[in-house]
Amino acid sequence: TSNSLIQLSVPTFFIKGLIIPFFFFLGKRYPLVFGTPKSSKSIIGKSNPLWQYILDHSLREHPILKKLRLLTADHPWSKMMVSCDQAQLMANLVKLIKAKKVIEIGVFTGYNTLNMALVLPDNGRVIACDINEDYIKIGKPLWKEAGVEHKIDLRIKPAIQTLDELLASGEAETFDFAFIDADKESYNEYYEKCLRLIKRGGIIAIDNVLWSGRVLKPRKDDLATQSIHHLNEKLHRDARVNISMLPMGDGVTLAFKL
Ligand code: SAM
Ligand code: CA
Repeated sequence: TSNSLIQLSVPTFFIKGLIIPFFFFLGKRYPLVFGTPKSSKSIIGKSNPLWQYILDHSLREHPILKKLRLLTADHPWSKMMVSCDQAQLMANLVKLIKAKKVIEIGVFTGYNTLNMALVLPDNGRVIACDINEDYIKIGKPLWKEAGVEHKIDLRIKPAIQTLDELLASGEAETFDFAFIDADKESYNEYYEKCLRLIKRGGIIAIDNVLWSGRVLKPRKDDLATQSIHHLNEKLHRDARVNISMLPMGDGVTLAFKL
């Protein structure tokens, strides 16, 4: 019996004692390849020196945007704010396609609203959709301070209603860019309405498409994850757009309307 006990414990010891620490070591040493994909923020998270390196070597943040980012950091829901490197990518896209009309679905404290308004021409417009005015009160004075308040058209009501109103008033195919970042259960509806509202060549950016890794195993009772996962699957075969899914922030898909 003592021999068979030893025989049984050797493979267990081998697995637990060597293989697990070996993969743990690989995960730490090569996080991009072997790291546990719990979320994109754990791939290049804030504790990873590469995150700081990325910011140090790419972020060009307007001083009032920085001020709003730091103000938002004190908010109990600060994690809702888009990552600053991702916001910069969206501003670059808005500039690249010479966008004039953009939609933001989910404003929170208005960091990305300000970010986009700063790069729009003087006659450009951000239709900013949210249901909660309290969060926006934090950023609104800074929109004014940055001199872009006149470019922001804030609509406080459910975003679906705002999108329907835009469609009803004949604004289909007049927008250049949309950022979808509100309640995840409505993502498919937001996408379909935005696709009608933007022009050919326009871009829809869909946020949180990795949802902290939960899309890998969507639970049946987790409606937010189900909704994001279904839209990810649909977008993969959607012939109306070209797409790129980027592991930036919490994952962002760019859909380019054909
Ligand atoms: N885009 C923001 C940024 O760059 O910091 C973050 C948006 S935050 C993740 C989501 C926002 O969606 C919240 O401010 C919330 O009030 C808003 N929201 C939730 N449900 C909504 C709805 N049905 N219509 C419009 N906004 C909604
Ligand atoms: Ca988000």
